Amino acid sequence: AEESNMIVAVRVRPLNAVECTRNSVTNVVHVHGHNELSVQAGSSADASAGVSHFFNYDQVYYSCDPHSKNYADQLAVFAGTAQPLIDTAFEGYNACLFAYGQTGSGKSYCMMGIEALDDAALDGNAPHVEAGIIPRFCHDLFRRIDAVKDQLQVEVEVSYFEIYNEKIHDLLSVQQALATATEAPVQRQALKVREHPIFGPYVVDLSAHSVDSYSALRNWLAVGNSQRATAATAMNDKSSRSHSIFNIVLNLTDLSSDDGQSSDTDSGTVVSLRQTRRSKISLVDLAGSERISASGSNGERIREGVSINKSLLTLGKVIAALADARKPAGGGSLTPSTFVPYRESVLTWLLRENLGGNSKTVMLATVSPASLHADETLATLRYACKARSIVNRVKVNESPHD
Ligand code: ADP
Ligand code: MG
Repeated sequence: AEESNMIVAVRVRPLNAVECTRNSVTNVVHVHGHNELSVQAGSSADASAGVSHFFNYDQVYYSCDPHSKNYADQLAVFAGTAQPLIDTAFEGYNACLFAYGQTGSGKSYCMMGIEALDDAALDGNAPHVEAGIIPRFCHDLFRRIDAVKDQLQVEVEVSYFEIYNEKIHDLLSVQQALATATEAPVQRQALKVREHPIFGPYVVDLSAHSVDSYSALRNWLAVGNSQRATAATAMNDKSSRSHSIFNIVLNLTDLSSDDGQSSDTDSGTVVSLRQTRRSKISLVDLAGSERISASGSNGERIREGVSINKSLLTLGKVIAALADARKPAGGGSLTPSTFVPYRESVLTWLLRENLGGNSKTVMLATVSPASLHADETLATLRYACKARSIVNRVKVNESPHD
């Protein structure tokens, strides 16, 4: 099978308690096997009532009913989407996984899930059963690092920030964490993006933390998550309107090769010829994809809506441009004439190094199965489909059936 640099997956969450108690709410999303799902759209009053829309993806995860034999738990979603990116990272390539969907559809559950920070509750320091992609990825990463430590030296560095209204805020700033702990009021500083001639776009003054174990990394995750929660409470559930980006940078040095060192016989000094590779993995929890209606929104809300949609729109455009550029070459390098509009949003500009070229990208679209969300669910599925159909145009992705 032809290998694609882009994988599109969809996950359907269970109906929640509120949805279950409302009589008018029904489950309108049906999963057919591991690659297909359908949505029944339209209310009974509507002319299009009962029309089913079918969609195909690389992976479809049914997470509605834990008692079903098809049920995909957190481990299954991780194993299918993010785990292969550990290999990508070890090979020295960049990767990016992002969760896309309306607020409440399960993006944060997929990305972070529930992570017990109480060591006593953990089995051999393993992630909680409901832990999401980020803690599982990091846990597995250190397991892998440990397994190859005789051949490969791996240095891990993490950073974590959010983008809100095109402004960047560090979630792992030490001063910020201290200020929050003492409840001192501080003005959160917005950081700037600059472009390094070799390493590409980066956030100026963003804190980066070296970690040498999963438990050390997990402590930073906890700091970042509490920073995110604090900011969200202070600004009326801002988390649904901001993108959060967790970056893991690996510096890999090959220890096994015999010509790792060579003696310079003239001067007697030892010159290291060891190759160091660097790879960056970005795990992204995007802002809610729902359109913010103009009515009933104040100016602030509308501005947020504009910048969120701009980011998500630009992300779509970037994916489309990359897929287009890759096609003639059959994967791999970009044709030089392709214009990819990375700089049209902060999000895509910062992800430039792990969205293009030989990077692997995974898009995980999350949807609610509830009838009251059918329109947003269709919008999410179409966005995801567009990303995929561009990569693989042979297949007709959506076909309405009666
Ligand atoms: P989002 O981040 O997209 O706004 P959340 O991840 O916060 O959505 O999910 C909304 C609610 O639904 C949370 O209470 C979450 O725990 C629950 N939830 C989401 N996905 C699942 C799932 N697959 N299984 C069980 N509960 C889920
Ligand atoms: Mg969320």
